[in-house]
Amino acid sequence: MRPPKVVPWWRFAKVSFGLYTAEEVRKLSVKAITNPQYLDSVGNPSVNGLYDLALGPPDSKEACATCMQNFSNCPGHFGHIELPLTVYNPLFFDKLYLLIRGSCLNCHMLTCTRAVVHLLLSQLKVLEHGLLHAVHDLEVILNRFLEQSADATALEIEEELNRHVDEILQSQELSDQCSNVKNVCECRNKLISQFWKAHMTSKKCPNCKSRRSLVRKEHNSKLTVTYPSTICLWFLLQGKNFPDKHKRRHRVWHIC
Ligand SMILES: [Zn+2]
Ligand SMILES: [Zn+2]
Repeated sequence: MRPPKVVPWWRFAKVSFGLYTAEEVRKLSVKAITNPQYLDSVGNPSVNGLYDLALGPPDSKEACATCMQNFSNCPGHFGHIELPLTVYNPLFFDKLYLLIRGSCLNCHMLTCTRAVVHLLLSQLKVLEHGLLHAVHDLEVILNRFLEQSADATALEIEEELNRHVDEILQSQELSDQCSNVKNVCECRNKLISQFWKAHMTSKKCPNCKSRRSLVRKEHNSKLTVTYPSTICLWFLLQGKNFPDKHKRRHRVWHIC
């Protein structure tokens, strides 16, 4: 009699989503797309174009050059385009805009206090483990610490919060904490949007006291930065290559 088959099984511990790196994209790709023409003069798919047969057949008359299957059975295959310059991911353009708007272009720091940044990072860290209650606890801990040591440096604040985060993580039974994922996601989104609204709109940089630059976005592809007059003057005095320095105070980043 044959022994019963043992079916191996695993329980999901966690799922995360991310973006492929450039190297991973190249490994997944079956074809580098280098030809801007996707059809030739008689209407057939051009080699190395977007309709290249290596990516899958465009209609029922063709077969896939990668898996040799027909139009119905080929799953389709990834290709890739090598970009000659670094470009920002358009999916993150809104976040890029918020980050530049909330940054000091004089000292290149975020225009909020270090305490706020370290608090948010610590809260996001405990939320990765589903510890909703610790979000408020960390805020209380930070406020108490700042009352006792008003002149604490950024490093001291970071160390204090890290010490409490480690204690919280060690004292928790982590196995059951990720059960209420929806609440954790809502709390994370709320913390991040509060951070943008409440802490990234200050008129002066708390670090170097420079006035804030005006940042405008156009068509989700371009950012126009108008420097405050003091920085413009700094550019003029330093003899830097400031664009159209007699009339305009704009510097433009083309995103794509
Ligand atoms: Zn195929
Ligand atoms: Zn600054």
